[in-house]
Amino acid sequence: MLLENKVAIVTGASRGIGKAIALKLAGEGARVLLTARTEKDLLLGKKEIEEKGGKADFYTLDVRNESEVKNTVDAIIQKYGVIDILVNNAGISREMPLTEMPMSVWDEILETNLRSVVLMTKAVLPIMKEKKSGNICNIASAAAIRGLPGSTAYSASKAAVLGMSQALGDEVRSFGIRVNSVCPGPTDTEMFKKSERREFILKAGGDVFSCDVMANTVLFLVSSLSNGMNSQTIVVRGFNRW
Ligand code: NAP
Repeated sequence: MLLENKVAIVTGASRGIGKAIALKLAGEGARVLLTARTEKDLLLGKKEIEEKGGKADFYTLDVRNESEVKNTVDAIIQKYGVIDILVNNAGISREMPLTEMPMSVWDEILETNLRSVVLMTKAVLPIMKEKKSGNICNIASAAAIRGLPGSTAYSASKAAVLGMSQALGDEVRSFGIRVNSVCPGPTDTEMFKKSERREFILKAGGDVFSCDVMANTVLFLVSSLSNGMNSQTIVVRGFNRW
């Protein structure tokens, strides 16, 4: 058990990569607090973890909403007294050429994929600093390394997550807090199934990964398996371009 007695928050845990991360961390002994907007799916995730003997709870949360974020994190601290791990995984993608993208769509993507990471991180940092320990893992995207046509806002939001994570990792290192990022390549989830760029991405090379591979990468980063590793990025891709 790599995460015995650890308290871990996973955002976007109602399905896809986030749910796989929640199951993985719980399987290693963490008490996992699943968050997303869809209560029925969070409940299913909690039950699935408990049926396997794990510890879980859930909080319905829109990561774009500053007061909801703060209230949720405060409630978790009240109940458990600590937050050891935060996985910022919630994200959205909307595909269209930049010239056709209304600024409302640009803003929605940046708000969900970047501002939410800032909100969640700012909410958990005080308790992590107080405990002189913490581990934050941000799910960016391979599109952060090489922007994907049709996904200008998405690529920009994910590249910004990497920049922010590197800067913050160095900023909080002296408090015993690590901040690292994962850049998944194409992964078998609802988001990827719905992607209009699916064929383009697949033709350009590379495999479609299972969510479990991403969850394994997160487990590595948030556990003692990667002790000392900070401000870094792991790109999980089968081919070095789109
Ligand atoms: P997904 O199946 O669409 O799941 C997205 C998750 O984010 C859901 O749990 C969703 O829950 C949650 N979410 C979205 N907006 C939210 C909001 N405003 N507040 C709270 N939760 C919200 O997508 P996925 O493929 O698993 O993606 C997970 C992460 O991996 C994302 O950051 C994505 O950008 C990244 N990624 C995915 C791929 C891929 O190929 N799949 C590749 C690279 C990176 P609710 O709808 O219930 O709120």
